[in-house]
This record gives sequence, structure tokens and C-alpha cells, in this order.
Amino acid sequence: MNKQREAAVAKRRADMPKTYRGIYDRCTKGKSRKAAMQSFCLECMGWQRKEVALCTSLECPLYGFREYTPIF
Ligand code: SF4
Repeated sequence: MNKQREAAVAKRRADMPKTYRGIYDRCTKGKSRKAAMQSFCLECMGWQRKEVALCTSLECPLYGFREYTPIF
């Protein structure tokens, strides 16, 4: 990871809830596509798992892959 990206990643990581930093770390280190999708959806919905589950953007490319979908 170059210095510019490293700084950008560190800033974003510091701005997110601690709970989700592990997921973010896995994707920014290129270890998990699943973590990248999780992290993207969480960020999109202001780090609210429940909001990811309730997402109404049916046209979003990640809609079918989002985590935290309701069980019912
Ligand atoms: S599926 Fe929903 S929560 Fe995930 S990125 Fe798309 S709009 Fe955001």
C-alpha cells in the first residue's frame, strides 16, 4: 500500500465505529471480498446494521450481496 493510500485508509478507519474496523482492515488488506461488501454497505448506511438489512435500493449492484438481511 503506498503512503497516500495508507494515509487515506488510516483516516477513514479512525472515523468509523471501532466495531467495524476489523472488517475494514480485512478488505483494505485485500483479504476478503465479502468484508469489502460488508464494509461498503455499512458505510453507505451510516454504520447501522439494521439500515443495511432494510435497504430499499433494489437497483444497487450490492443489493443481492448485502449482509445483515432480515431472517423473516
Ligand atoms: S445494497 Fe444498499 S446498503 Fe448496500 S451499498 Fe447498496 S444501497 Fe448501500
